Amino acid sequence: MERRSFLKMSAAMSCAASVVGCGSSDTRSSSDPEKPPVTTTDPQPAAEVVNWSACLVNCGSNCPLKVYSKDGVITRVSSEHETADTYGVDQQIRACPRGLSMRQRNYAPDRLTKPMKRVGPRGEGQFVAITWDEAFQEIAAKIQQVNQDYGPEAIYCHYGTGAYYGFANNKSTWHRLLNLTGGFLNHHWDYSWAGVYAACMASYGYQWDSIAGSSLSEIANSDLFVGFGFNPNEIRMSGSGEGYDFVKALESNQQNIQVYMVDPRYTDSMRGLEHHWLAIRPGTDAALIEAVIYQLIHSGWVNTNAKSFLDTYCVGFDKASLEQAKRDIEAHPEPFIQQHAQYIDPDDNYHDYILGLGKYAAQGARTATWAAAICGVTETDIVALADAIMTAQTPYITAGAGISRHANGDQATRAVYTLAMMTGKIGRSGVNSGAMPRNYGFPMAKMPTGTNPVDVTIPVFTWSDAIVRGASFTGISDGVRYTASGAVENKVDNNTAALPHNIKMVINCAGNALVNQHSDSNATAAILADESLCEMIVVCDCWMTPSARYADILLPDTTWLESEDYANDSYASGQLAYLTMMSSSLKPLGDAKSMYDICSGIAEKLGVQQAFTEGRTTQQWCEELYQQTRAKNPDVVMPESYAEAQQQGLFRKHVPEAHIAYRDYIQDPLANPRQTVSGKFEIYSISLARKAATWTLNAGDLITPLPQYVVTWDGFEDPATRDDYPIQLCGYHTKGRTHSSFHNVPWMREAVEDAVWLHPLQAQERGLTTGDRVVVFNARGTIRTQVKVTPRVSPGVAMLGQGAWYAPSQNQEVGPSGHVIDTGGCLNVLTKYHPSPIAKGNPQHTNRVQIQKA
Ligand code: SF4
Repeated sequence: MERRSFLKMSAAMSCAASVVGCGSSDTRSSSDPEKPPVTTTDPQPAAEVVNWSACLVNCGSNCPLKVYSKDGVITRVSSEHETADTYGVDQQIRACPRGLSMRQRNYAPDRLTKPMKRVGPRGEGQFVAITWDEAFQEIAAKIQQVNQDYGPEAIYCHYGTGAYYGFANNKSTWHRLLNLTGGFLNHHWDYSWAGVYAACMASYGYQWDSIAGSSLSEIANSDLFVGFGFNPNEIRMSGSGEGYDFVKALESNQQNIQVYMVDPRYTDSMRGLEHHWLAIRPGTDAALIEAVIYQLIHSGWVNTNAKSFLDTYCVGFDKASLEQAKRDIEAHPEPFIQQHAQYIDPDDNYHDYILGLGKYAAQGARTATWAAAICGVTETDIVALADAIMTAQTPYITAGAGISRHANGDQATRAVYTLAMMTGKIGRSGVNSGAMPRNYGFPMAKMPTGTNPVDVTIPVFTWSDAIVRGASFTGISDGVRYTASGAVENKVDNNTAALPHNIKMVINCAGNALVNQHSDSNATAAILADESLCEMIVVCDCWMTPSARYADILLPDTTWLESEDYANDSYASGQLAYLTMMSSSLKPLGDAKSMYDICSGIAEKLGVQQAFTEGRTTQQWCEELYQQTRAKNPDVVMPESYAEAQQQGLFRKHVPEAHIAYRDYIQDPLANPRQTVSGKFEIYSISLARKAATWTLNAGDLITPLPQYVVTWDGFEDPATRDDYPIQLCGYHTKGRTHSSFHNVPWMREAVEDAVWLHPLQAQERGLTTGDRVVVFNARGTIRTQVKVTPRVSPGVAMLGQGAWYAPSQNQEVGPSGHVIDTGGCLNVLTKYHPSPIAKGNPQHTNRVQIQKA
């Protein structure tokens, strides 16, 4: 859609004021704590004390907060506003409405304040209070028993991103504890970026290059921006985050840049700054990209403008390139590399694949006509995008992680990387590799966690399956990694050894991915409810989340605002790095303890307390780690003691120089080889060719060495589901939550509506208007929510903000799917548990549903 014709819709851009039942009350347990005392009137400022704290949730930033309190009770929370606010020098790190709602979140009615033990069936939320000593004893005894009966591989420490402290976070404390008691089963990847990591390793060789794209400030030197699912202004809302950097970079270059945004939803990152919105169907980005690249090759542009780049820096564009790679790898001195030569098929080259030649003759060319019928972007727009790329001197191409969270999302991300390679311009100022932009972080010391005696990890998304059949997990079937094998990351998952045991004990801290954020919530809840499978679930959190309801032992954690700790700017906060030294004048609610004190108590029962604490209190650890942090940052003036640093609160520094992706490799490829099998950028991934030949895949999955668009389960072209469930449903990051965090804050529920967005064409077919209550369902479940009718989504597509809390109807109302209706509107009731082919990651944006009036 052209920018001009879209501006009239901008009234819908800001947070709408519709209020919808959040379902949180549906999840309350009769044993939830009493609502704590909250002041109803703000006291005079003179009576307040102020402490520096921070918002430590997984949005990509960790905004500092100023916490005002009186007599240990919060009176208000405000943002940092200490500087002259000059962008690029000392811009204020303003918290978004989520962080500013922390007073209400801190005192939420579902706050956990006492250790508790389950008394009813698991998942029904019936608990009784126990003492800390009883909790420590029960957990310690279970760790010992599981170790003895099954081995430490049966103790799984789950993914949790709700507390990004520098010191007392779940990894520092729980991993350190478990490493002292025989070890535990850890995971690799995460829920957000598994497909991105796998794609980057296949194309560029190194996992972390996926977040080392050119700095956003390089957009100022670009003449074309192409963003696939790129939406920093809703995900990274900090006043000093990537969203702000993106806005400032575009503002500085308004006359010289064309902006293309490819997304099934018109996001707040566009808001009129884009020139073209390509309203694509979910999961079809690779098809669009193939058609664009067809234009580049078929027109002769690649031969004239990019062939030399492709021959020098890349493997796989044409047959000659693969023949040369095969010869080079056959002659490689390292036997492990050498054996990859057998997997290289020179006929399987990208040139022939795109043009429909050679072994791809029967398939046909990947033309704009072919792609338009799949992706929903018109032939005219596809050709125009290709023309823009061919005309540009400095194309900045990037993709958010959302396009990777699909059934074949690993390859969709590789397609974006390949498009960047095909421009032949990577390494120049203003140009990007297709990766997410590099963040500039404040170096920070962390408590050492020791060494895990258990040498195996599972892909994080597969944990629920590992409860059921972990003992059959191997590298070639489920992506298990044996880390001590000594090989580099993209090779170690090619093993055939199985996990010794199913998971028997789960420890879940500051995370809601037990039920809410994991796929197929109904089926996952059933696995957790079966006490014969997982024998104990420990949850450490501040609130009674849907995941906390499945605990056997509940441990109340202190909140960020109640903590003495420190935190840096996190992983996607843009080009201003910062460090907040946190202090608190609050009395932790009830009997809440920090994760450090909790783990210390369990360590005592296990006889390892001295080794765990090294004789240090929280204050002493923070002092020690502060000194180490200070030593890492000689360019920042920092006071001598932790206590003085807590008084000052905030330290910052701006990135000294913009990053340009792969500039070193382009300038000297022999001195800076990539970590791929060939040492070059790989359009044809040789490691994936090996996986394609040796891995055992789930039904319907396919791994291809080239980044190919393929028809997937529940995708736009899926013949098995498209008739019964005609609408593609895709999740997105709503401004009202960070993942599922802040769902239990009424201010946020009032400020940002929870509603399924539907195009007017599909709404008209169903007689729906905005505000109607609807059920959204498929074979996995039914949710009830309200509908928002808007042309801000592609035709045939519905979009739902992820993270609403799972709340099965207390009246056992059954929906059209035959399941109890989720009244909370949790997207994952509808998502499929089906790990992606390469990463074994999260495919939660690939869904088909039906929608009807409730
Ligand atoms: S932008 Fe992120 S870190 Fe900052 S206040 Fe909002 S949710 Fe918290």
